[in-house]
Amino acid sequence: MPKMEENEVWFVAGSQLLYGPKVLEAVAVHSQEMASYINSNHNVPCKFVYKGVIKSNEEVTAIVKQANYDDRCVGIVTWCHTFSPSKMWINGLNLLQKPYCHLATQYHVEIPNEEIDMDFMNLNQAAHGDREHGFIGARMRLHRKVIAGHWKDENVLKELFEWIRAALGYKVSQNLSVVRFGDNMREVAVTEGDKVEAQIKLGWQVNTWPVGELVNEINKVTDEEVQAKVKEYREEYQLNTDDLHAVHYQARVEIAMERILQREHADAYTNTFQDLWGMEELPGIASQHLMSRGYGYGAEGDWRTAAMVHIIKAMTQGLTGGSSFMEDYTYHFEKEDGYSLGAHMLEVCPSIAAAKPRIEVHPLGIGGKESPARLVFEGHPGKAIVASLIDMGGRLRLIVQDVECIKPIMDMPNLPVARVMWKVLPNLRDGIRHWITAGGAHHTVLSYDATAEMLENWAEMMDIEFIHLTANTTVEELKKELRVNDLLWKLR
Ligand code: MN
Repeated sequence: MPKMEENEVWFVAGSQLLYGPKVLEAVAVHSQEMASYINSNHNVPCKFVYKGVIKSNEEVTAIVKQANYDDRCVGIVTWCHTFSPSKMWINGLNLLQKPYCHLATQYHVEIPNEEIDMDFMNLNQAAHGDREHGFIGARMRLHRKVIAGHWKDENVLKELFEWIRAALGYKVSQNLSVVRFGDNMREVAVTEGDKVEAQIKLGWQVNTWPVGELVNEINKVTDEEVQAKVKEYREEYQLNTDDLHAVHYQARVEIAMERILQREHADAYTNTFQDLWGMEELPGIASQHLMSRGYGYGAEGDWRTAAMVHIIKAMTQGLTGGSSFMEDYTYHFEKEDGYSLGAHMLEVCPSIAAAKPRIEVHPLGIGGKESPARLVFEGHPGKAIVASLIDMGGRLRLIVQDVECIKPIMDMPNLPVARVMWKVLPNLRDGIRHWITAGGAHHTVLSYDATAEMLENWAEMMDIEFIHLTANTTVEELKKELRVNDLLWKLR
């Protein structure tokens, strides 16, 4: 996973030569001050770097070319302190291959009553300059984020930092390889999809490796390596079983899977219980531990969710709520509202656990293999989102729903898997209607760290459809939105 802090966002101010050197010098000093203020904020996800004042067509083109080819640069933020006649931006912006944000801000907070004269207005005319600059973004139909407000405003910085995290998600996406151990679960529709389209649109390389090759790798793992991995498990989790053989086997599988992932430069993988030829157990702790270390995972061949788990984990580095592969399993209906119970056969990420997970071994009714060792725990309470990326045929749709996780209202002592209970907004019945109307899958990424805004930014960067299901969504409006979107995407 690329370390977030090793990346950069470039801050470029727009102006022109008309104002003379004194004004341009002030623009540069102010822009530098703003960049270093933002860069020193303890929530800034990566370096925020001042890259100069643009005064000509050639300068825009030069900075965009540099941004495109500099791997550290995840995106460009522009702002016009003065007026920057924006035809000079067209050639450069035409070449831009990185996420782009227009920060409509100004240096001063309030209008200084006594101090304001024509010189002040000449220098501080972002309200004017940003409109010219905004027009060319709209005219060129650029994928862009517009953030407005003073640069020290907490809400402005929050929006900016969410956009920066999404920009890192864009970079991760462009470099992501997904290893598929085996194919899709037989007959399942929503996990199928167009891998060529996904690579064109999102950059993902999705390829298959035979389970036999994994078994071969499993057989090469030494007992010493297994002991070291089990030691990690015992440090992080509470051992709640006598069946050490099952735990050791999981360690062996984790080491083998990671070896193949590293060899293939892959950060996400899928498997399926229908193709475990030559394996003793379905990977349980093996997948849970890999996920907790940042790998993306998707069950039953679900490569889109696997990729999204990794991308969301990469975007939310440094945040502590956690993100996991998830599946809606069972509802708890109550008269007015109710709860959704999320879990999976085994593979829920311990990053979302409320307390230390327990290592347990239980039989698995499906798949016809030995009883696998898995981590059992409850997810912690807190605001979260569930996200599902589906293939609509000809386009991808990212659906995000707002949920509120709670401590499960019962302890379910005979349920042998990790579980999360949540309230769906606005309420269970409407939330289910919204999700199903939009076509959301049973597999999702549950994240306490990613926000809907962050994922909306990412969807805009990737040029895919985005649907946000909130407390204010109504099924009537949603249906209209989906119908209009269907039409718009066909016209493109
Ligand atoms: Mn599943």
